[in-house]
Amino acid sequence: MTERSHNLSLEEMDRQSVLHPFTHAKDYAAGELGDLRIVTGGSGVTIHDQKGRAYLDGFAGLYCVNVGYGRKEIADAIHAQASQLAYYHAYAMHSNEPTIRLSDRLLRNAPNNMQRVYYGMSGSDANETQAKLVWYYNNVRGKPEKKKIIARQRGYHGASVCSGSMTGLPVFHQAFDLPMERIKHAATPHYYWNARKGESEQEFSKRLAAELDAQIEAEGPETVAAFIGEPVLGTGGIIPPPEGYWAEIQKVLDKHDVLLIADEVVCGFGRTGSYYGSQHYGMKPDLVTIAKGLTSAYVPLSGAMIGEKVWEVLQQGSDQFGPFSHGYTYSAHPLGAAAALANLDILEGEDLTGNARDTGGYLQQRLHETFDGHPLVGEVRGVGLLAALEFVADPASQTAFDPGHKVGAKIAGACLERGLIARALPHGDILGFAPPLSITRAEVDRLVETSKEAVDALTDQLTREGLLNAA
Ligand code: PLP
Repeated sequence: MTERSHNLSLEEMDRQSVLHPFTHAKDYAAGELGDLRIVTGGSGVTIHDQKGRAYLDGFAGLYCVNVGYGRKEIADAIHAQASQLAYYHAYAMHSNEPTIRLSDRLLRNAPNNMQRVYYGMSGSDANETQAKLVWYYNNVRGKPEKKKIIARQRGYHGASVCSGSMTGLPVFHQAFDLPMERIKHAATPHYYWNARKGESEQEFSKRLAAELDAQIEAEGPETVAAFIGEPVLGTGGIIPPPEGYWAEIQKVLDKHDVLLIADEVVCGFGRTGSYYGSQHYGMKPDLVTIAKGLTSAYVPLSGAMIGEKVWEVLQQGSDQFGPFSHGYTYSAHPLGAAAALANLDILEGEDLTGNARDTGGYLQQRLHETFDGHPLVGEVRGVGLLAALEFVADPASQTAFDPGHKVGAKIAGACLERGLIARALPHGDILGFAPPLSITRAEVDRLVETSKEAVDALTDQLTREGLLNAA
């Protein structure tokens, strides 16, 4: 049995008691991973740690703190709600006022005429709900064999059993016996790596749609229920869709009676410069997943929004199956709803979607000016306040680094040393930016200049190590 000392520092206590996501468990337990940052506070785009160090958070936590840190209005709303009613469930003819008001407000602004909202606590559980809705829908329609869901390689939809299966990144599957049999994956819509020589973006989109069509035919259209995608592919690389992509995909889905689930967990609530990514790209989703920016992460809350087609069938299902038998203790939690209402007051009151468009446009422009043609940068891409730099060993021949060199992670580390948080994404050597939507132009300048220093420092180091051709 391990002896537990009573005189541990917070750092030691953490190391000996917390199993952290996405952290090398053995090396951390052995104290080999360096400094732990205990985050103690935040204001605007800045967070602080236990040593008093300040960081510009260029990733808004995990692209979720859309209105920025330290918003007293949200804290006050949570406090007021907790003082009046911290919790009651929403099962079988119970509700609470903030949930009712939030649902009405969400449906007024939702893409493609959504009809109902089902609440959870995370993007993962909301996508789990979407899968169950899709299966329920086809059971009620008398199509019990129509159950497969097609996601995309490098798509990200969560880490639970079904949502983790939808996620198209191998690290989420290996060691967990995923993906589930019913979940399939289609190609990543990344023009930079996957387009053929001379193919235009529009042609690339048409080809991907034709490949999806062939995939559905091969699976059997009578077995394929839904397609899930992020309007802009996020954690798998921050990849905006190529021109015409969603319109082409939609035609294939309509042809085969396949539902579209738009995973708006990152794009929703202003990130792209439109309120929803679906609106930005003219998507017509049947189901919409929301989380993150819904409360700016002040309280965990997610939602599965249900469009007309599914809602009609769901009502018919009541006759067949009785009450809708899916629920979490914390579905429609009043604290989440109160936080969301206060958050949306700020988001809409300060027109942060407009800021994502304007200051986001400035961010994209500054990144292009600074990094286009840089010897380490193959592609600069993004939309609104969502952007990425892709690092390659040789931009001219489009040659990737050996993953073992961990170039993306080293650049994120070099940013951190300089007081900037940017995220190394898990596939390839990619540095992602998704700051709070309240960011100013001056803060964007700081973000771009600091990343330039970090990228230049790594370029020098890699040149010295002989991994880059000296210019
Ligand atoms: N969907 C998308 C697009 C996401 O980016 C994420 C998380 O990053 C999720 C779903 C899962 O959300 P959560 O981590 O809250 O379960």
